[in-house]
Amino acid sequence: MAHSIIRLASSSSARRFATLSIAETTAANVVPTYARYPMTLTHGDGAFVWDEGGRRLLDLGGGIAVNSLGHAHPEVSAALLEQSQKLVHTSNLYFTQPQADLAASLVRLIGPGKVFFCNSGAEANEGMFKFARLHGIAGQAEEEAAAAPRMNVITTIDSFHGRTLGGVAATGQDKIKAGFGPPIDGFTHVPYNDLAAVEAAIDERTSAIMIEGIQGESGVRPATAEYLLGLRRLCDERGLLLLFDAVQCGHFRSGSFQSYTKILEGHPDPAAATFRPDGISMAKAMGAGVPIGAFWLDERVADMLSAGRHGTTFGGNPLACAVANRVLDVIERDDLVANINDVGEHFVSSLRAIQTEFPNVLCDVRGHGLMLGVEVAAGAPGVPADAASAAGHFVGMLHERGVMTVPAGTHTVRLLPPYNLTIAEADEGIAAIRSVAEELSN
Ligand code: PLP
Repeated sequence: MAHSIIRLASSSSARRFATLSIAETTAANVVPTYARYPMTLTHGDGAFVWDEGGRRLLDLGGGIAVNSLGHAHPEVSAALLEQSQKLVHTSNLYFTQPQADLAASLVRLIGPGKVFFCNSGAEANEGMFKFARLHGIAGQAEEEAAAAPRMNVITTIDSFHGRTLGGVAATGQDKIKAGFGPPIDGFTHVPYNDLAAVEAAIDERTSAIMIEGIQGESGVRPATAEYLLGLRRLCDERGLLLLFDAVQCGHFRSGSFQSYTKILEGHPDPAAATFRPDGISMAKAMGAGVPIGAFWLDERVADMLSAGRHGTTFGGNPLACAVANRVLDVIERDDLVANINDVGEHFVSSLRAIQTEFPNVLCDVRGHGLMLGVEVAAGAPGVPADAASAAGHFVGMLHERGVMTVPAGTHTVRLLPPYNLTIAEADEGIAAIRSVAEELSN
């Protein structure tokens, strides 16, 4: 026994020796910032994961819009293995092929400009906020900049832009700001999809307007085409930057590389065909689970972030970039954009049929591509009156049926599945959603 204790203690599985469960060990040692579901996951394959009891679950949450190719994708594993045998990290003091290739691909996909690499969505936004200040102040005379620096960013109510101090200040939700003292200066929030409200909020200190093409965390709310075109017009007229937080809705999730292209598809206004923001942040689906973030800046302004202005140690390291390159290759090779649109449309028509069948339980289905929200009706009969969130209650009932989704806001069940989800897999999720709606309707 003593011998096996020593052997186990010296192996990487020493932690398993504890009598505590994984959940208990986590609770005892990890700061409790997350309200976790009582599920411990051990491995995955495609759209499925397994828990420690061997139960198979259909993952339609995708690690909150991250696992773009599902779990254990062979190409992601191969890219990790191949690159890890060459170079994992170099710092940004040197050039590497994977970073150069990824930057060139992103510029090809978005438009003429340049890319800054980082490690997460919040960090990408933080860089864009710094850039917005730099750009605004640089356009002012010295005295004017000292008296009233043009560094303010207008964002929207119910937006989410990350958990850094800048991200928290930019986020239009009080619950995210609570407890952290005065938010850093320079952010104003206006109602989403309301052009007049943005226009009224612009003053001499405004440097930029930043929106999500589809608001994610607060309930999957897409921007309208008129809003996007109006924002571009306003920014052009007033000399402001138009910034997009595409951390969740970008990277093909909407069925187009960027959600604005999807939203403006077929719009008769000629401005729709040439629409482009001045800056776009991205992360999540980029690395299919390997942490990587970035922001793109239009060619007219990108060189303003000159050497020494901004930086990060890990950002754009060869390992993360090699995976992100492979993710783009697989999406293109397997024509996953067509799949995102086909499976997304199948979800929407099937979910709308369920909404029609159980209108007292489901009141809306919205979104684009594979970023979809199903709204649980206020006062849905089977949802306990004391449930903290109707969406959370619905998600819990889906877990019982072996399907994972993510709540958004208090009433929206969010579907963010992998881009290679099949119609048969989608049908398994749809059947579970119908079964929950049916149970709640009685
Ligand atoms: N922006 C948006 C729109 C997001 O949805 C998120 C995360 O959910 C973030 C920023 C923050 O990204 P991260 O968690 O990678 O810092």
